[in-house]
Amino acid sequence: MQRAVIGTAALSGLSYIGLLSASRSNGRLLRDIELLRNDRKTCPALPGLHDFKGVIHVHSNLSRDSEGTPEEIIRAAEETGQRFILLTDHNNRKIFAQGMQGRYGDVLVIRGAELIKGGQALLAVGIKEYVDGHSMTIQQAVTAIKAQGGLAFVAHPWLFKEWEVEGIDGMEIYDIADSTVAQIWKAPVMFADILTPGAEHPESVFLRGPLTRPDSYLSKWDGLTQKRKLVGIAGNDAHQNVELFGRLIDPYPLSFKFVQSHILAPALNEPALMRALQAGHVYSSFGLLADASGFQFSARNEGLLGIMGDEVPVTARPVLTAQAPHVGLMRLYRNGQAIHVVTSDKLEYPVREKGVYRIEVALQIGGRQYPWIFSNPIYLV
Ligand SMILES: [Zn+2]
Repeated sequence: MQRAVIGTAALSGLSYIGLLSASRSNGRLLRDIELLRNDRKTCPALPGLHDFKGVIHVHSNLSRDSEGTPEEIIRAAEETGQRFILLTDHNNRKIFAQGMQGRYGDVLVIRGAELIKGGQALLAVGIKEYVDGHSMTIQQAVTAIKAQGGLAFVAHPWLFKEWEVEGIDGMEIYDIADSTVAQIWKAPVMFADILTPGAEHPESVFLRGPLTRPDSYLSKWDGLTQKRKLVGIAGNDAHQNVELFGRLIDPYPLSFKFVQSHILAPALNEPALMRALQAGHVYSSFGLLADASGFQFSARNEGLLGIMGDEVPVTARPVLTAQAPHVGLMRLYRNGQAIHVVTSDKLEYPVREKGVYRIEVALQIGGRQYPWIFSNPIYLV
């Protein structure tokens, strides 16, 4: 009995030390991030284009697995500086009668749905009417989405099989839910973060858990973009429905602050954003580390300016140019292979070979590298 008591005391002592050290290292990490954020440069904008930051793949209480109200969603977007929300409730007829759509103050909501068939998920962005995905093949669903002027993105790519389907516009290259599942071996660390005494920041749970380079999604994407254009987006898959030990782990504000997609468009309205999204004028970023607004990746030469998603002739002898608001490790990839790496806030690379070129930027924080920005490719043809 006594031994058991001592054992329990020792164990709780040990776990308390563990929790305290988790708390200290979280405090340090969050301080280091704060320092980095203070050292920010403004990047000059591309002519005629604005960088609109927002969130893609959001569920409200029109989905059976979310109780989030429209007011909570708009408030979270305003609090975290989002300019657009791509709302994708689980597919049902109600969405199209009751779902949010249009302008709410500074925030534009584009309505769509998440269609799931046999585990394969599509985000039908900007559709106006119900598509009965259950009675259709994936190909028919994509065709129906496109017939309404919508865009079709693959969500949860690890469950998707029918990549040969025609008309798919893009895919999630990151999804918070998928990344959390893939990092489940980190669960003890995440639990320690959640239980840290006095901790006011569940942010550290996200930083030490799902904030990870999505290796398998990126290599899948790299393989596919060598055959056809495919726009990469980050999926928040925000539900505000995960509770652990009585604590809400994924409130909308945190989920929105964690990762964003940035769309480069001339104006904030549905047609402009849909066109830019389809064209791949998009990059994704873990904004929880630092706001990436202003990041650019382009192909330039006298009289020539191609941006992410564009096709640029290699005969124009362009220089691939990237700039970021913070110094980071900038990696240029060609057809999935890293070909040039610099630690800087600028990268220039004269390109003479055809291929699919994209950039990643990682930030060095407290001796560790954190992935930060993922551009869409420029297609050198
Ligand atoms: Zn979803």
